Amino acid sequence: MNKSKNNQADSHDYHDHSACIEDAISKAEILCKNKGLRFTKIRRKVLQLICSSHKPLGAYDILDCLRKEGIKAEPPTVYRALGFLIEAELAHRLDTLNAFIGCVNPETSHQGQFLICRDCKSVSEMNDNEIIELINSKATNNGFSATQQMLEIEGQCNQCK
Ligand SMILES: [Zn+2]
Ligand SMILES: [Zn+2]
Ligand SMILES: [Zn+2]
Repeated sequence: MNKSKNNQADSHDYHDHSACIEDAISKAEILCKNKGLRFTKIRRKVLQLICSSHKPLGAYDILDCLRKEGIKAEPPTVYRALGFLIEAELAHRLDTLNAFIGCVNPETSHQGQFLICRDCKSVSEMNDNEIIELINSKATNNGFSATQQMLEIEGQCNQCK
């Protein structure tokens, strides 16, 4: 258990990424079980794909991957699976890239800050409570109650600098 990792950006520096994928899938299994959700084959497969690198995938990239593996799928199947994963808080949709990525920290908050590299399109997710609380309190000061925060921050990652 590496707890210190939780609040840090999940870096895409060299590391054993297969551990990241396994971690995401086993977290998803537990979460679905606890919430009484059905973690079907296609949902699992789509989650595996969007966790397969730290780069998000578009819906059609996912469809291509599925077809390459001989899985017959149509766009609505992929969108439904993605919808499920987002609803179950296992994945995020990034508007900036119009793409999807597995959540690095699904058992806690589903609000996060996403560092998106303009060059290599890698994404690091941070779950920084200080930022979340600051936004909440500023919003409250404006008479607004914030329910969901997704911050997409564009720039250049360590590898591309
Ligand atoms: Zn990884
Ligand atoms: Zn997340
Ligand atoms: Zn980069």
